[in-house]
Order: sequence, then structure tokens, then C-alpha cells
Amino acid sequence: MKPWLGEEEAQAVTEVIASGWVAQGPRVRQFEENFAQTQQVSHAVAASSCTTALHLALVVAGISAGDDVVVPSFSFIATANAVTYVGARPVFCDVDAVTGNVTAETIWAALTVDTRAVIIVDQGGVPVDVDPIRELCDPLGIVVIEDSACGVGSTYRGQPVGATADVAVWSFHPRKILTTGEGGMLTTGHSKWAARARTLREHSMSVSAAERHASLMAPEEMYLEVGFNYRMTDLQAAVGIVQLGRLRAAVERRREIAAFYTAALADLDGLRCVADPSYGTSNFQSFWVEVLPSFRTDRDGLLARLAADGISGRRGIMAAHHQPAYRGRDNGNAGLRNTDRLTSRTLILPIYHDLSGQDQLRVINSIRAAAGGLPA
Ligand SMILES: *Cc1c(COP(=O)(O)O)cnc(C)c1O
Repeated sequence: MKPWLGEEEAQAVTEVIASGWVAQGPRVRQFEENFAQTQQVSHAVAASSCTTALHLALVVAGISAGDDVVVPSFSFIATANAVTYVGARPVFCDVDAVTGNVTAETIWAALTVDTRAVIIVDQGGVPVDVDPIRELCDPLGIVVIEDSACGVGSTYRGQPVGATADVAVWSFHPRKILTTGEGGMLTTGHSKWAARARTLREHSMSVSAAERHASLMAPEEMYLEVGFNYRMTDLQAAVGIVQLGRLRAAVERRREIAAFYTAALADLDGLRCVADPSYGTSNFQSFWVEVLPSFRTDRDGLLARLAADGISGRRGIMAAHHQPAYRGRDNGNAGLRNTDRLTSRTLILPIYHDLSGQDQLRVINSIRAAAGGLPA
């Protein structure tokens, strides 16, 4: 992965510095408005990262100690950690063997009497099938939180992902398609949740720092509850505004690269490429392949082969329940079969906007050689 940054971002940051206002201010507001419009949601609240946005999401959804929250183990560990931050218990559920995403069935199998929320993930950019999950959760009063850290630019039934969740969160870490260095966003249709997240991220001050700065006689602020400092800076937001303008081109380019990988590896026995599900489109933030037992070598063998050819692949998505942080705890980690299979069998191939055709062919031919196939 390489972030797609250019002169425009550098110029935007220069302007913020010249303005003298570098903390959360007008650029953050503008970035939020632009993001809400792109994602077709009513409210967007910027945060310092997706992890802190997820923490805010759980707080505004009213999740606290004694509650269970169903989450996939097959995700970056922050998904489970945020649940732990609010004192609730993450209960791990399995994922679909093909998409790597949670489904209504895998969530249903993990429900407990204390389940108050689920966190669904658009893993690697593959959209999660939300409608059946809402059909399961809505009658039970279970809040649906979408960890869309990887999902910007992906679609679900013709709409941007995240639009139908109670609350969704997004990441602008350089590993994701859009970056602000570090940064995150919370989106929701609930105006009260948005307003509370807005104050919570700024120490729950009744008057924002930007508002106080704008007035000569600053009104006295009050601290309404115990809040956080989860603010994004205007330096970051200025970059984000430019990045958002690149989204369409970035997704188009990735889909092009993904289509080329898929076509060039299609005839190899024992290799399965991640693909669009029937109900949506992926932004291909990650392009992963599953190395099946019928392949000439296993996942680690293929990674080693790529490395020997000077190509940096990565093990696929992690499984939180195997990590020391969660191992041995009661997280209901029974029967996570697809999670274990995908975690041990998948690897991520290089994908970024300026990956040259020649470099992509090198990756393809290294894999084809490992499979004992002819060069593409
Ligand atoms: C990257 C990622 C996060 C964490 O995002 P940060 O912005 O680094 O906090 C959370 N969840 C998932 C699924 C991710 O991929």
C-alpha cells in the first residue's frame, strides 16, 4: 500500500499553517460536510482515528458495563478493543467463508441475553450484507454499528456502505484508501447521537474551542459529562478535503488493478481471489487471495516465494481471539471455523494507485511460478 498524496495536499496544509488556526476548526467542519454528502448521511463527526470514533459510537449508542457486543474476531483488533474500552464484553462471531464478513446467521449464533449491539465490518472494503442483519437485530432492539474503516468508496445495493447502519465509523490511516495521516469519522442519521459525539470528542465542553476563539468575550463553558480529546486537527482535515476529491479515481484505479489480478490468476488451481458480492461493490482497499489445499504450496510458502522475488505480500486479516489480549478470556470464541481458515490461508497482494502494469505482472508471474503455471 502507498498513500496517494500530491502537491494539492501540501498546498492545503500550507494554507492552514498560514491561517494561524491549526487545531479543530473550519476545515474540520468543511471536511465533515463534504464527507456526509459523499456518504449520503445526515451527520458526520470527525475524530482523531477510527478507533476513537468507534469508542464514541459505542458511548452514544449507550453501551456500557454488563452489555455484550457481537463482533467478528476476523478484523483489526481495534474493533474488539473499543467494546472493551466502554466496559462491555466483545463476543466473537464467525464470518462468511467467501466474503470474510459477518452475516445474520453468524451473528445469530453469537447472541446472548445481554447483547445490546453488533459491530459489523466491511472487511478489506468488501461490503457487509446489512439488510438481513437489520431484520435480525431491529426487532431485538440491538444497535447496528458499522466499522467501515476500510469501506469508503464501496457500495451496498447501489448506496455508499454505512448509510443504513445506526452509526458507522471510518478510518483515514495511511493504510486505508483516503488518509489524513491519522484520522477518523463517525456518521449517523441520529442527530442526538451526532451532537453528543461532537461534544464528547471535545471534553464535553458546552462551547467549542473554535466558538470561544471567535468571540471577544468568550462565554463561560461547562463540562457536561466526562469527555475525551478525540479531535481531528484542521491540518489533517485540509488534507482530507483534498483526499475526498480523489476518492472516485482511487476506487476506479483499484478496481482496474483487481480485475487484472483476477483475470491473470483465474486459471490457477487452488487460488481464490476476493471478489464483489452479488449485492454490492468493493473498493478493493485490500486485494486478498485464499490459498486452498489444492495449491502447490501453502500461504506462508507463497509469501516466501513472493519475498524471494522482491515482492512484499502480507498475511491476511488477523483473528483477534488468537491474540494474547483476548486469548483465554470468555469471549464465546467457539466454532470460529471460517475465521480460522481465512486467517491461516489468505494473503494480501500489492495494490495502490500507481502500481505499474509491469510491477503487477511481476507479482502475477511470481504467483504463477509458485503454482507451476506458465507466465501470464
Ligand atoms: C484500520 C482499522 C481500524 C482502525 O483504524 P484507525 O484509524 O487506525 O484507528 C478499525 N477497524 C478496522 C476494520 C480497520 O481496518
